[in-house]
Amino acid sequence: MTLRVLSSRMLHQTGELLFKVQPVFTSIAMNSERFIPNKSYWNTTPTVSLKYHTRSDLRKAVSASEPLIADHNQTWKIVASYLSETLEVHRQLTVETADGQRFVFPLVWLRDNCQCSECFHAKSYSRILNWELFRVNGVQMRKCVVEDGGSGLQIVWSDGHRSQFGSEWLIERSFNNDCRQEYLNEWYRPRPKLWNKQHFSKILNNFEFEDVISCDKTLLAWIESLIKYGVVMIRNAPLEETESRKLADRVGFIRKTHYGEEYIIKAKEGTSNVAYLSASLQMHTDLPYYDYLPGCNMLHCLVQSESEGGRNLLCDAFYVAERMREKHPEEFRILSETLVNWADVGEDEGREFHSIYRAPVICIGRDGNLERINHSIPQRDSFFNIPLANVEPWYRALELFVGLIHREAVQFKTVPGNILTFSNVRMLHGRSGYTDTVSNTRHIVGAFLDWDEIYSKWRVLKAKARK
Ligand SMILES: [Zn+2]
Repeated sequence: MTLRVLSSRMLHQTGELLFKVQPVFTSIAMNSERFIPNKSYWNTTPTVSLKYHTRSDLRKAVSASEPLIADHNQTWKIVASYLSETLEVHRQLTVETADGQRFVFPLVWLRDNCQCSECFHAKSYSRILNWELFRVNGVQMRKCVVEDGGSGLQIVWSDGHRSQFGSEWLIERSFNNDCRQEYLNEWYRPRPKLWNKQHFSKILNNFEFEDVISCDKTLLAWIESLIKYGVVMIRNAPLEETESRKLADRVGFIRKTHYGEEYIIKAKEGTSNVAYLSASLQMHTDLPYYDYLPGCNMLHCLVQSESEGGRNLLCDAFYVAERMREKHPEEFRILSETLVNWADVGEDEGREFHSIYRAPVICIGRDGNLERINHSIPQRDSFFNIPLANVEPWYRALELFVGLIHREAVQFKTVPGNILTFSNVRMLHGRSGYTDTVSNTRHIVGAFLDWDEIYSKWRVLKAKARK
C-alpha cells in the first residue's frame, strides 16, 4: 500500500500546509459535484503539516515523492496531482485517490457487483443478483458518499438500493490498463519466461521431494518455477511407484487418461504405445489427440538404464515458436493456422479407445499469446483434412520447426529418485534409445496434472502467503 494524501489545506497566516493522510479517496466526480471535506472531517482525521515560505517552495514540497512519514509500516508519499480537477464522464463514476490517480468505474458494473447480502453471497464468492430483473438503462445513481474517511464509498441507487465498496476492493478491480495487466500477471497466469539451450542450466530449479511434500512454501516455489520455466526437477523421491501420486495430491489430483492414472514406462512386448518400446523417442508432446490436454507431466525415475541411452531430450517449444514468429513469419502462420488431425487408436488394459482431435502445431490463444504446442510424429494421423495446395507448404514449415526444436533441445539423464516435472502444453520431450536387457532395465512411472488445478493451488498458496 502506498501513500494516500487525501486533501490539503493551507494556513496562509502561518505558512503551513496541512495534509490529510489516511483516507484513500480524495474526491468523487459525479454530476460535476466534488467531494468537499467539511469541518468535522478536518477535526477527526489525522493531519501532517508542512511548513513553507513561498509558493514555489510549496509546489516543490508537494511534488516531492519522498516519504513524508512512516506509519504502521506504510509509506505515505506526497504528490502534487491531488490538486488536479476530476473528470466528469457519463454513466461512469470517477474516483480520485490521494496520489492523484483517477479510477473510472461504469455504473452498470458497480450495480452488477454490489456486495450486499441480497446481491452477493460472500461465503461462496457468488453473485446472487437476479439478472432476469436487471435493466442496464435502469441503473441510475442517486448519491455517492465517501465513507470512513476514504476507506470506502456508499452508493445509493435510484430505486433506493444501497451498495458499499471498500477502497481497496474497488481499486484492485480498476479498469486501468496497468491494473488489468497486473491482475492478469499476478492472479491469472504469469507470463512464461522463455529459454533456449544456453539458458537451461540457469533456469532448471531443483527441489527436494520431502520439502515439496511437507512445506507449503516449497510447494509454492515449485509451482511458480513450473509456471515460469515449464520444467522443474524434484529430487530424492522414495523409489516407490506411488510417489508421483503423492506429489499430484499436494497440488490436486492425478489427471486420468485412457492409459489410466499412473503409467509405467518399461519396455514391454506387443505394446500399443511407442513410449513402451526401448527405441529412441522423437521429441513430442503427450496426448495431443485430447481436446482437454493433460497439462503437466511428472516422470518419476525408479531405475535408470546403465547403457549410454535413455537420455531425456527437452526443448522449450514456446521459445522456438516465438523465434519462428519473429524470423519465419510465413512458416509460423502456416503452423499456427493449419488444423492437423491428432489421433490414437488402440487398447490399454482392456479399454479400447479411438481418439481424434484437430488442432494446429502452434496454438495461439485469443490474446495472441502462445497457448499450446502439439507435436507428435507417431500420433499425427494420416487423415489430413486440408486443401491439396496447402499440404507441401505445411510439410516445409514442419521441417523448419523440427530442425529448430532439435537445435534448442537439451539432453540430460535423470537418476533414480528424480521426478522430472514439465509442462505438456509448452515443452517437447523425448528420449534417446537404450538397450533393454535383464541386467540393464529402465523403469519410469509417469502421471499427469491439469493446469487448472496447478494454477488454482498456486493462487490458494499465494493468497495464504500474503495474509
Ligand atoms: Zn445489493
